[in-house]
Parts: sequence; C-alpha cells; structure tokens
Amino acid sequence: MKSDPSRPVSRRQFCKTTGLGVGATLAFPSFLKGGLSKGTPKVAVVGADGMDPTLLHQYAAQGFMPNCKKLLDAGGFRKLKTTLPPQSPVAWATFVSGLDPGGHGIYDFITRDPATLTPELSTARTEAPKRFMKYGEYQFPLGASKLELCRQGPAVWDVLQTAGVPSWALRAPVNYPPSPTNAKTLCGLTAPDIHGSYGVFTFFTTDPTREPGDLNGGSIQRVRFIKSVAYCTLPGPENSFRKDNASSSVDFTVERDADAPMVRVSIQGHDVLLKQGEWSNFVQVNFTLVKHLAEVPAICRFYLKQVRPYLELYVSPVNIDPADPAFPVSTPKSYSKDLVREVGRFYTQGMAEETTALSAGVLTDAEFRDHALYVLNTDIKIFESQLNDFQDGFFYSYFSSLDMNSHMFWRTIDTKHPLYTPELAKEHGDHLPTLYRRIDDYVGKLIEHMGHDGQIYIASDHAFTSFRRQFNLNSWLLDNGYSGLKNRLDRSAAPNFVNTDWTRTKAYGLGINSLYLNIDGREPDGIVESGDKAERLRDELIAKLTAVRDPVSGEQVIRRVMKPDKSFRHVSGDRVPDLIVCYNDNYRASWDTILGGYPDDHVLDNKDPWSGDHCMDPDFLSGVLLTNAPLKTDTPALEDLAPTIINSFQVKVPDVMKGKNILA
Ligand SMILES: [Zn+2]
Repeated sequence: MKSDPSRPVSRRQFCKTTGLGVGATLAFPSFLKGGLSKGTPKVAVVGADGMDPTLLHQYAAQGFMPNCKKLLDAGGFRKLKTTLPPQSPVAWATFVSGLDPGGHGIYDFITRDPATLTPELSTARTEAPKRFMKYGEYQFPLGASKLELCRQGPAVWDVLQTAGVPSWALRAPVNYPPSPTNAKTLCGLTAPDIHGSYGVFTFFTTDPTREPGDLNGGSIQRVRFIKSVAYCTLPGPENSFRKDNASSSVDFTVERDADAPMVRVSIQGHDVLLKQGEWSNFVQVNFTLVKHLAEVPAICRFYLKQVRPYLELYVSPVNIDPADPAFPVSTPKSYSKDLVREVGRFYTQGMAEETTALSAGVLTDAEFRDHALYVLNTDIKIFESQLNDFQDGFFYSYFSSLDMNSHMFWRTIDTKHPLYTPELAKEHGDHLPTLYRRIDDYVGKLIEHMGHDGQIYIASDHAFTSFRRQFNLNSWLLDNGYSGLKNRLDRSAAPNFVNTDWTRTKAYGLGINSLYLNIDGREPDGIVESGDKAERLRDELIAKLTAVRDPVSGEQVIRRVMKPDKSFRHVSGDRVPDLIVCYNDNYRASWDTILGGYPDDHVLDNKDPWSGDHCMDPDFLSGVLLTNAPLKTDTPALEDLAPTIINSFQVKVPDVMKGKNILA
C-alpha cells in the first residue's frame, strides 16, 4: 500500500525523502515520555506471544535488545497479569475484547460439543448446511455453510475504527474468521490451514524404515521411484460435495536427477527445481471438488530434505492463498491480496512454525530454526510494508515466533529438562536470543517510524517455563474411580474417548487445562446430578488433585484447581469447563490427556521437543508490559489494555469492558 497523497507528509517521511534519516537513537529521548500529540494520537502495540519477562531482562542486559532496554531503563516495564488459564487463545481473546474468559467464551484451545463429546477447536465453528440435493456420488448444498468466530465481545480495533480512528490489526489473534470491521485486519493465531486444522504437513519418502501413516498434525507417505520418477498425492480439504466427504487431492511427480542431488517437482503445470536442502517458494495448487464448478485455490511450500539414499520431500501444511482466498483471512477481503502485492505470498495459517514436524523427527532442529526465521522475517516484512500508511491511529502487530520457538527450544536453555544436553545448548542455545533480538529490531523500526510522539506497548500474553514432567489426568481419574473403560485392558490413546464407558464416568479431562463432569442432562450419558452433588464432586476433585505428588521428586503436581463460575464475572453456555486445572511449575497435562488417552503412568518425563510451556498456574506466568506510556499502576492486567488504549483516543469504552485505565 502506498501512502495517501492527500495526507500531509510526516516529519519521518520528510526526513526519509530528504535523506536526513532519523535513527532510533535520536528518536528515543522525547519518545520515552510517551506523550500523545493533539489531534488523532498514535498508539502501536507489539503483541509478542510468549515474551518472557525474565528472558527479556536477561537478553536486554546482554545487549541483544537495545531498543527494549531503553524502555526498561526508563521504567516502562511491568509484569502483565495473564488469564486463567494462561493459554494463548484465551489470553489474546482477553487482550482483543477487554473481557475475561467468561466474557469472551474461550476457555481452552480445545473444547467439546457436549451433545456428542467430540473434541473441537474452541475458537471457530463451522455449521454445515442442513439440506442437500443428491446426485450420484455428489451432494449439492441447499444454502451456505456457516463459519463462525466463537470469540465474543468487541474487538479493540473495531471500537476504534468505528469511532473514526484508523486501525490495523496484523496477524490478529483469535480472529478467524475475521470479525466484521472497517479496520484493516489480517488473521493470525488460530487461523487454520486449508484442512481447517492448525497445520497438517505431508512427508513423502522412499525410506522403508519410516512408518507411513497419520500423525497428529501431519502424515508420512511412502512412495517409490519408477525409473527416476516418484508419483505422489497431496491431500487436500475434505470434499463436502461428496456424500462420503472424502478428501480432495492433487497428484504430482518428483523426478530425480541422474547424478546431482536435486529433483524436479511437477504439479499442475508448475515445475519446481529443488536442490537438496532447499525450500521452494509458495506454489499454487487447486483442489477440484466438482470439475468446472468448485475449486479450492491454495498454496504450499516444498522442502527437499534428501535425495539419496532415500527421497525425503517435505510439503508444508497447505494454506489458504492470500492472493485468492477461498476462506476469508482479512478485512477487507481484498486486503490480503494488497499485502501479497507488497510482499509476495505468505503463510495464512496462524501458527506457521513447523512444530509437529520437529516433534515427529521429520525436520531437524536446524531445519526448524531456518524455517522459523523465515516465518518471522515474513511477518516483519508484512508489518513494515504497512507502516507508511500508519501516520496516526492504532497499529497492532502480532508475533507468534517467541511462543512457538520457546515451546520447541526451551530444552536448550533449561539444564534440568529431560532433553537438555550441553551439546544441544552449544549448538542451538543462541536461537531464542536471536529471535528476541529480531523482534527488538522491529520495535526500533516502529519507534523510529512513530517519530517523537505516540505510545508503544510491547505486550505478551504470558511468560514461559519448562515442561519437564507430564500428568495423565484421565489415567488418574480412571485409577481413582472417577472414570471407567469399556475394555479395561486397553488404555491406549483411543481418539475421541471411544473406549470410555460413560455410564461409569463421573469426570473427564479434555483440552490442556479443562476438566468436565459427566452431567446428567448435559452429556448424553451423564451420571452426575447437577446442583449439590456436582458441587460436592468438584470440591472432592479439587482436594484430591491438589494432593497429587510426583512419585519421583515428591513435588506437588497441581497447584490449584479453579471453578470458572467463581473465577470469572459471569459464565454461560454448556462449553464452560467445570474445573480449570492449574499445574505447578514444570508440570503440564500430558499429550495423551489432551485427546482422551489413559496410559498406565500418571506422571512421566516429557521427552517431546515441545519442551517449554505456559499452560500452568497463571500466578507465576505473568507476561510482559513494556511501554513509554506513563503507567499509574504496578499491577496491570491483560484485560486493562483494550479499555486503556480506547480511552487514549478519547473514545467511549464499551460498558462490557471492566478493565481499569492503567495510565496516569
Ligand atoms: Zn501465547
């Protein structure tokens, strides 16, 4: 986007065009006072998911973050109270709406439909059309399917834009599908890939030792060369036009060079030459649902990991194409196309870092790092491309990087993590500081752009800590008489609780921090009477769960268990968990518990590279607030930011926002 020629040229633009250049260092002294100019003020928020207060101070002291250090030295730092539970979608929904989880309705990454007990993503819901016209193997919907954002409440940028304040929300979290607004928004955290999931990769290999099949978040496909060509099939979205909903797909070939470590990928008329160790640019693919009638345009990237002895070709999760979005990813809808014209194609899924591929051993630490830097650099390119238009108003830019990479690389900085080794620390211990430094660069650019006035907030939704030990909540419930199995000998992680005997189950864990009772009249085979009996069961579970000790260290595993109806101002609906489990430092819900498995051990080591986390007790996981604005409190909370910012523009704060104005 080019700047509006009718607008007066700002001082910054003037300096730029005359070649004078104002360095961030020169811009800083008066900026540190955080004043707002007369007329429409300017306020910028850097949403740094997972920026940890301790690491911020450490890296600033070590010289990695000179721009943030100036704000720290000027007294602009406070710990920012996070939400219960401190999960990213829950916490960012609070930032966006100024409401607590009871108000915005997001309590966990995963929730369930109480009628079917099927786990589902908590932030967006798709409702299929009710009636179809059937024709052979196809069915044609009579009426549109409904895609709905589950986050309730106003969005801070929409309140401002409606009041006439130009507003941007780039990589806006918990905002898919984008809530209607005249503000310029691009979806971020919780925006799905083309499958409607948080990202499913495909890995094609000729390696006979690689077990083919579906992983949670990816699939491994065994292929073979016929002469020098391997024939592959890339899975696409489910085809709702087919009666059986079978997935669509696109065939492609991989031709191996006779001598050199390189291949040619041929897909739908595109020929992509790749050397070993090389990523492709984004490649457009079209999934045909009904020939000539319904196509889903999408994009993906190829990474040639290895050619010999075995082919290893990684294909990124297939994304919605921002240049031709099959599902809305921005407001206005054309905005994502404008961004493509500025910076080229980009990932539209909210969490584009390849965490599942690293956990599955499909990508190495070094490969994950390279790709993660690409994601961060692309986001920065998008944000910087919009700065020329931001002369006044509200500018929000969100980063997933610190969160995603801290999850995967905490084992490089925590000497007590089961996966820590000095060699690993030596090789990859610089990754997190590199990312913090890169975000600090952007902060410097933003401040430089803002010139001498305006307010900046660098805010994170929670801190980070180590995830050393995992707790099988459902196994504990089973072995303590709160749950039953149909086949008692099979405790494996059967998806969707298919082995659970609901007629003997009083409570079940689902999601990372949520615990539900099996309530009569709410769940299909509910056996717990609501009212006093349910209340007594909740109290009993709280007492017993907080008494659980780690058999190895004797440490308390669960610090607190909270009742949502007592913790939030108001709760409603049947998707509210009955209890929220707050784990102790270094403990978290196990991978199996999240999806309803019942392994034998209750507490065990976490040996997944996903080694850092924050889904514990919010009391020790407050995030970062770093600002040049004059703070009048030492205890700001995430829910205070929306009303404070709205107030800075002299716009009426919506009555539903209960947070306080934190500025003097
Ligand atoms: Zn987060």
